[in-house]
Amino acid sequence: MNINNKEDPFYRYKMSEIILTTEGKNQNTRTIIKNYGMICKELKRDQELLSVFFSHQLCLRTNIGQNHELIIFKECDKPTLQETLKEYIKHFIMCKSCNNPETKILSDSKMLGLSCSACGSVSEIIITSKFNKYYDYLLKKLPKTNITIKSNVAHVEIKKIELSDPEVIIKNFINDTTTGRDLYFELQRIKVSRELNDNDIAMMLTKLYITNKFNIYVETMKLIKCKNILDVIVGVLIENKKEIMISDILEELRDDCINENDILEWIDSKKDNNNNNNMINKYIQIYGKWLRDTDDE
Ligand SMILES: [Zn+2]
Repeated sequence: MNINNKEDPFYRYKMSEIILTTEGKNQNTRTIIKNYGMICKELKRDQELLSVFFSHQLCLRTNIGQNHELIIFKECDKPTLQETLKEYIKHFIMCKSCNNPETKILSDSKMLGLSCSACGSVSEIIITSKFNKYYDYLLKKLPKTNITIKSNVAHVEIKKIELSDPEVIIKNFINDTTTGRDLYFELQRIKVSRELNDNDIAMMLTKLYITNKFNIYVETMKLIKCKNILDVIVGVLIENKKEIMISDILEELRDDCINENDILEWIDSKKDNNNNNNMINKYIQIYGKWLRDTDDE
């Protein structure tokens, strides 16, 4: 379904049309949304969390099948399901400030908000009697964010909070299925909106990596193509007093992001450089020696 009507608040949203089949008879009739997994992927929403929405709104039991299909334990027609999904998109996906669908649901202790990666705002999700059961469910289920979600706060003010902390946007963006490419494109967007350069991006990513390891760090760093990447990393480690992590990071990046000869060349260039930070230089040289010894064997 390509919602292309400009009168429609979500005309920008392109999504797949629901594909349905029905199985069983009478009391055992089940309606199956065959492409449910794909829909969740397009909406960037967790399969379980969206299935609970269907269950609450339809007052029916649901289950997610082995092929990521949604099984609804009763006969349902397509318009009803499509309408339910539309309600979800309207209230739990579309950014309240810029009407873009690139959002993530945030939860603090009392409220839900939508954090938008297109405009950077965090807008409140309004509780209505229609959705309060689902609202409560999400409040309990979602991890708590350290961003304060404020109701009816001027857009500019919210943006200021977000601007000071693009790391939070990145952190919230990464989940189990995020690829290095996804993250790279997200970073490009942040880069433009925040007027950052590749070094700033590499710095933020490294800072996040040393505090919460994530498995697409190397893959993403490779795509960023930051100049002096190793010096940038050293700067972040010194600033965060994590000098000891330098050999782990060099080992992670070796071959997958930077070739070994370039690493060794960089290590040699640091040899007589004792004026900056002795501790990290020592670790770097130990790693260089280890690397050469391993190669000689
Ligand atoms: Zn927005």
